[in-house]
Amino acid sequence: MNMMTELKTEAKFADQFGRSKRKLRISVTDRCNFKCVYCMPEHPEWMKKHDLLSFEELYHFCDFMVRRGIEFIRITGGEPLMRQGVVHFVAQLQELKKLGLKRISMTTNAHYLKQYAQALKQAGLDDLNISLDSVDADQFKQLTQKDLAPVLEGIRAAQAVGLPIKINTVLMNGMNDDQILPLARWSVKQKISLRFIEFMPLDGDRKWSTEHVVSEQQILDTLATEFAVTSQANDSPQSNSDPARQYFIDGHPIGMISTITNSFCGTCDRVRLTAQGEFYNCLFAPQGLNLKTEIKALTASAPLSQASLYRTLFNYIWSKESGYHAIEQRLKNQPSRKISMHMIGG
Ligand code: SAM
Ligand code: SF4
Repeated sequence: MNMMTELKTEAKFADQFGRSKRKLRISVTDRCNFKCVYCMPEHPEWMKKHDLLSFEELYHFCDFMVRRGIEFIRITGGEPLMRQGVVHFVAQLQELKKLGLKRISMTTNAHYLKQYAQALKQAGLDDLNISLDSVDADQFKQLTQKDLAPVLEGIRAAQAVGLPIKINTVLMNGMNDDQILPLARWSVKQKISLRFIEFMPLDGDRKWSTEHVVSEQQILDTLATEFAVTSQANDSPQSNSDPARQYFIDGHPIGMISTITNSFCGTCDRVRLTAQGEFYNCLFAPQGLNLKTEIKALTASAPLSQASLYRTLFNYIWSKESGYHAIEQRLKNQPSRKISMHMIGG
């Protein structure tokens, strides 16, 4: 079979459990102005700027992936709004909508959002996930080492320009588990959809333990003390771009991303790329695939490098394990890997 024939027969990416891959998360930087306790190590070692893939290289990679089935791209970090040129990147990605890309999203801490909201909207960003772990200013500062006010201003700015937003909240026992009701009330009042995320063992300093996890059930029980809680009929994660299990409090949507106690790994359709070109088939994969050289060689007019990258990726994605619990069981007594959430992008 010659190379051109082989290219035409490339299948979309899927893993050994039949989960096809439709969502790509691109971390554009590991740097962040926040120091969230559940994410950033006390002494982060930032990736060197010259080691990061350029936006042009990232664009070629996105083009390559969209041609092979990716329909949703989420730009994340670190803090994506700290990387210069990210708005232009969003605008550039619009081109890929002709090839089947459906949505371009971003996850941000919203600290700089006030100054970027309008430009992001103009660049064609479809929606934003914003992290907000407390509506109490003192507690917010303890959790992130930054002020709450700019975040709330960023949220208002995004609403003002018509960018759809969802709030992500990571809860930790003994830190901000008292925020379940205040955040729920705030989200109802603001008419913003809220998702609670269970704390995952991806913190930079590896202090995670099950005792810190606030479970989906704990959250539901707390919500039920004040709201009428109902669940989506089939009790499964939504089939679109949202991995959360969907509930309603007094009719207002509220999601749960419960990787630890009620995982949605069985339907996972995500893959991830770090800012320096490390590809991960799972958030918890012990080993990434260093694609930096392949991505740098990748141009629309280089079918040979495309075919070779396709084969490498196909095999790696195929080998994706069934999920968090399988990986945790297998690696029980082994040292945990180095990658943490600020590098891989959540
Ligand atoms: N800086 C941006 C932000 O905070 O939204 C984007 C990157 S951040 C790594 C992406 C998401 O990962 C955030 O919603 C954050 O709350 C979540 N996250 C970080 N560390 C986590 C952990 N250990 N467990 C669960 N979620 C975590
Ligand atoms: Fe920064 Fe986001 Fe990690 Fe917080 S969760 S430290 S904002 S990358």
